[in-house]
Amino acid sequence: MKSYSAEFKVRTRAAMDFVNITDKILQAVSKSGVRDGLINVFIPHTTVGIFINEDESGLRKDVERTLLKLIPERANYAHDEVDYNAHAHLKSVILSPSTTIPINDGKLMIGTWQSIFLAEFDGPRERRVLIKVIGAD
Ligand code: ZN
Repeated sequence: MKSYSAEFKVRTRAAMDFVNITDKILQAVSKSGVRDGLINVFIPHTTVGIFINEDESGLRKDVERTLLKLIPERANYAHDEVDYNAHAHLKSVILSPSTTIPINDGKLMIGTWQSIFLAEFDGPRERRVLIKVIGAD
């Protein structure tokens, strides 16, 4: 069993920001040399998430508006008594800070229209992204 670890940083530019990190993930798969396995992408922060979807500007707005509708910035949140960013934590909870994608024949098995996004909810900041590739070959 082969394994490979990597880490990179992402600079987010707004309070809510979606950064397409697909190229970095593709590079990690290529560097790992794994032909058959899984890649896990994990962000060790409490106010970010990961999602996989189409990189289209209208859809980015729709995702942002939908998340704001589901979890408004201001409500009667208990955590806001501590540091006033409960909404960012809650968005992270519903998206999750991690995703796992299969690798077949050395190829990341995302669909043609799928991109991998780091979703920032309490930016702008620098964020760490951890990658682990596990090969079954
Ligand atoms: Zn907080």
